[in-house]
Amino acid sequence: MASKGRLVNVRRPEVMSQVREDVRRYQSELVDQIRADGGVLELPGLHLRLASAFGFCDGVKRAIEIAYATCRMFPERRIWLIGEIIHNPEVNARLDEMGLRHLPWRLDAPEYDSLLPEDVVIMPAFGVTIPMRRLLDEKGVVLVDSTCGNVIKVWQRVKTYAAAGITSIIHGKARHEESLATASQSRGADEKGNFVVVFDEADAQIVADYIQGRGDKAAFLAHFSHACSPGFDPDVHLQTIGIANQTTMLKSETAHIQSLLKAAVVARDGNDERFHMFDTICGATQDRQNALFELLEEPLDVMLIIGGYNSSNTTHLAHIAARKVPTFFVKAADCLESLACVRCFDLNLKQEVQQPFPEAVSDKARTLRVGVTAGASCPANVIEDVICRLIEMRDCLAL
Ligand code: SF4
Repeated sequence: MASKGRLVNVRRPEVMSQVREDVRRYQSELVDQIRADGGVLELPGLHLRLASAFGFCDGVKRAIEIAYATCRMFPERRIWLIGEIIHNPEVNARLDEMGLRHLPWRLDAPEYDSLLPEDVVIMPAFGVTIPMRRLLDEKGVVLVDSTCGNVIKVWQRVKTYAAAGITSIIHGKARHEESLATASQSRGADEKGNFVVVFDEADAQIVADYIQGRGDKAAFLAHFSHACSPGFDPDVHLQTIGIANQTTMLKSETAHIQSLLKAAVVARDGNDERFHMFDTICGATQDRQNALFELLEEPLDVMLIIGGYNSSNTTHLAHIAARKVPTFFVKAADCLESLACVRCFDLNLKQEVQQPFPEAVSDKARTLRVGVTAGASCPANVIEDVICRLIEMRDCLAL
């Protein structure tokens, strides 16, 4: 019989008192001060507004504390992390410096063969797939779980769907760790459940069309070849559907996808009895999106979105802002090289590009109005660095 991975709780009082000191590096007095001043920083030539909700969410804070606590508790052991604990380069670089090793999100990776029972493996905030968890159990390693409670709520929902024979339609990114884990949970331990991951409204429209008898089976399966359960048959598995979403998706898009699919079921059946939904976008994601909408009501010359380029919730913030104002999605202060050269993530090209700031930023004769926010995985010290770099570039203090 397979041996069982040993799940340990590293958040022990004696460890956490040290960890709280370790994670002070991610705090910022400047950011706290701006927040205390109503989210506004006024300097000569600069009016900076911070969103009312930004940066680290509770799930991310907890995951980072767990990673630090694991290092404190097992200083002599090999500690492995599956993928990244969260999607932030500063946090991940620091954990690498502390000696954490990485297990890829591919079960056939050779690193899994080298695992020893005394090794410690941290499961990230996004959770892991059922086969991954099974393999770790078989290896008998020490397991530390940092899966966010909001992700577990989504799992409970898709497991309920699977038990009732309902196919999960997951609004998410098919290759994002959280969606991979959720899709796996929607299969269930017996791997009989079914799912389709829809990325956007165009994907949802393909599903809606098929439900209403307007689809082509081969084209459907080709389109979702990497985003549906093995053996998926749209003729069978789209009869009764339940919606769930990756916790960090755009709320308005999820709402639209829900309406689209519900309308498709009603058009087919004359009622919505075979349509189920449950909004699983987490409160932290929602609060950051709402705070940004509120901030964008203000007149702004430019918006800075700070966070990792592979962070789903940060990318959505950048999409929201870019519709309204010139937006620069940067991961750290050193992206602000000069007024003429900002390294930022291009949402269409999906890569870092170099762009000049708009003219307003270099016009010292007027007060620049800048909005700032950061994704749920971005620490306050990185936000402070970006703000300080902006002040330096504008030379506000010398005005
Ligand atoms: S964004 Fe939401 S789901 Fe993700 S770690 Fe934070 S609280 Fe959890």
